[in-house]
Amino acid sequence: MGLYIILMGVQGSGKGTQAGYITHNYGGIPQISTGDLFRAMKTRTDDLAKQIQELMAEGKLIDDDTTNKVVEDRLQQPDAANGAIFDGFPRTPYQAQWLQDYLEKKGEKIGAVILMKIDLYGGFRRAFGRLTSPSGESYNVYTDAEKIDVKWVEHPEKAFPPRLEATVKSTGEKLVRRPDDASADAIIKRIDTFVKTTQPLIDHFSAKGLVHTIDADQSIAAVSAAISKILDAAN
Ligand code: AMP
Repeated sequence: MGLYIILMGVQGSGKGTQAGYITHNYGGIPQISTGDLFRAMKTRTDDLAKQIQELMAEGKLIDDDTTNKVVEDRLQQPDAANGAIFDGFPRTPYQAQWLQDYLEKKGEKIGAVILMKIDLYGGFRRAFGRLTSPSGESYNVYTDAEKIDVKWVEHPEKAFPPRLEATVKSTGEKLVRRPDDASADAIIKRIDTFVKTTQPLIDHFSAKGLVHTIDADQSIAAVSAAISKILDAAN
C-alpha cells in the first residue's frame, strides 16, 4: 500500500518545509505541486500550455479535467510508485472525487488530509514581511527586527516618496522582497481565495473522516511531530 497525503494550508503555513520532512522520513514519496507542474509548462509553446499560462497569470483556476490529467501523468512517474504528497491539489470537490476514484482503481486510498492551520493575520505578516538576502537567507520584518536595519531612502530628485531599504545587520547585504509579497491587497486576496476554496474540500473530506487539523503556528519540529503522529496512525 502506498502513502497518499494531501497537505492543505494557506501560503506561508510551512507546507514546503513539512513536505520535505515527509519525503525524507516516509520512503522518499515525492511532493506533487500542481502549481509547480503548471509553472514548468512555461517553456512549452502548444496551445494548452499557453492557455494555462494565461489563466495562471489572471489568478484563475485551470479546468478540472486538464488538472486531473496532469496529476495522472505525474502519478505514473516511477518516483510516485509508493505514494505522493499533494500540494495545491485537489482544489475542487470534483478533483477530490477524481483522485479518490483514481486511487481506488489502483487499490490505493488517501491516507490523510492534513490542514496546516495558521492565524491568518500571522500568515499575512509572514508573506508581507518576508525579505530575502542575495545568498537566499529568509528574514521577516516583523519577527527578525533585531537582525535587520531598515531605513528610509530619499529619491535623488525627490520625484517619488522615500522608499524603505532593508539590510542584514551582520553582513550589510541588501534584502529584497518578492514582487507578489509586496502588495498587501494581493496577499489578502490570496488568503481570501484559499479560505473560500478550502472549505468545500474540508467538508468533502471531513465526511470521510480524513481531515486532521494541525496548529502550524508551532515550531517546525513540533509541526513535524504532529504530522508523524497522524501518518503513523494512517499507515
Ligand atoms: P499555486 O502555486 O498552488 O498557488 O498554483 C498557482 C496557479 O496554478 C493557480 O493560481 C492556478 O492557476 C493553477 N493551479 C494550481 N493548482 C491547481 C489546481 N489543483 N486546480 C486548478 N488550478 C490550479
